Amino acid sequence: MTASDRGLLLYRLADAIAADAERLADLEVRDNGKLRVEMLGQMRYLPRWFQYYGGLADKVEGRVTPIDKKNMFHYVSYGPLGVVGAITPWNSPLPLTVWKLAPALAAGNTVVVKPSEFASASMLGLAELFERVGFPRGVVNVVTGFGHDAGAALVEHPLVSRIAFTGGNAGGRKISEAAARNFKRVSLELGGKSPNIVFEDADLDAAANGVIAGIFAASGQTCMAGSRVLVHSSIHDALVERLVMRVGQARMGDPNAADTEIGPVATEPQLARALDYIGIAKAEGARCVLGGERASRAECGSGWFVEPTIFTGMTNAMRIAREEVFGPILSILTFDTDEEAVAIANDAEFGLAAGIWTRSLARAMSMPKRLRAGTVWVNAYRVVSYLAPFGGMKESGLGRENGVDAIYEYLEAKSVFINSGPPVANPFTLQ
Ligand code: NAD
Repeated sequence: MTASDRGLLLYRLADAIAADAERLADLEVRDNGKLRVEMLGQMRYLPRWFQYYGGLADKVEGRVTPIDKKNMFHYVSYGPLGVVGAITPWNSPLPLTVWKLAPALAAGNTVVVKPSEFASASMLGLAELFERVGFPRGVVNVVTGFGHDAGAALVEHPLVSRIAFTGGNAGGRKISEAAARNFKRVSLELGGKSPNIVFEDADLDAAANGVIAGIFAASGQTCMAGSRVLVHSSIHDALVERLVMRVGQARMGDPNAADTEIGPVATEPQLARALDYIGIAKAEGARCVLGGERASRAECGSGWFVEPTIFTGMTNAMRIAREEVFGPILSILTFDTDEEAVAIANDAEFGLAAGIWTRSLARAMSMPKRLRAGTVWVNAYRVVSYLAPFGGMKESGLGRENGVDAIYEYLEAKSVFINSGPPVANPFTLQ
């Protein structure tokens, strides 16, 4: 298929997703319990990825180089890798799969998707649309199953050229090792413990909203969750008071209800994990100023709900400040100088994202350079776009998704030399 035809097919797919957004949102909510309002917004945004990479498909051009050899013509062309394996988690199944599918298909690859064993239904729902808009059979394939089984088989398979993985660090490490053994390309989007830094000159109401969105949206089950708040000590009490007030009033319950603000966590192991970390934080001496237990509100029934939880009085050495919980649990630390804020923020194994809240232009300009994070938001949090590269530093992963460059992650350069001069006379003096 020509690149232009691939692009048109991706446009058709974008239209089909837009028309089917409600059904896909329902599948996501049933699978992972996230708020329907948010899922519908995500589904309505997904077509943009296919439009963007559909448009890019026929704009990848090779080049002729001014090669430094006499009578030699040299060009570079870009071709697909072949079969790409996409292994994805349960927390945002479709968006995180589409970040891989759109550039991989635009580049001319075929893809085998291995969705999470906890949330496979929406990917199967999306797969129907590929058939409906006319993708040739075999271009997009879905294999459900467990990571150690179906996932590992995909990583080990000799015909798979590249693995695009989003998930936890344990799985990421295994995949990276297996890919290295087989010389496979790999991209890894892993976990985070992202700092949300509130300076003393911040708009406090805006910062409080940003902090809440950063950790309590999706019940904290996002890789980019702002799970560590670093606040200047002079405004610590004022910020904590606002957070406790607003989050304390948040409506929990049925994720399908339009006015629910905090839903359940997605799986039973995730519930146990969140409650474990609450216990660990208390044992470490962190002060629990909100929540701190499984929700027993009537509207939560026997569902897997964790009360939104806030800890203060912490140090950055505590496990609750260093390890990813993936739940609605916020750790608040203080600092007194910008240097200290940067040091605490960067004193982390992860480096996925960071937020800063300030009215100072100097800080807005200088902090992004000083923070070891793949994405930095200034007076904002949790904003993503098909145009903006996303990925982690340090243990948050390898590679970037989204934006123009991502298509090259799914292409391979080929060098072609054409002798345009006389034939080589002496094979032993070949240059
Ligand atoms: P997970 O690592 O348990 O599973 C992710 C996927 O990998 C699943 O499909 C699973 O079956 C598969 N898998 C697991 N072990 C494997 C192996 N050895 N070989 C092949 N496949 C394997 O992660 P999860 O619990 O589903 O998701 C939560 C994690 O994902 C969190 O750590 C979160 O931070 C991370 N995450 C990262 C991003 C990002 O963009 N950086 C986005 C969302 C989630």
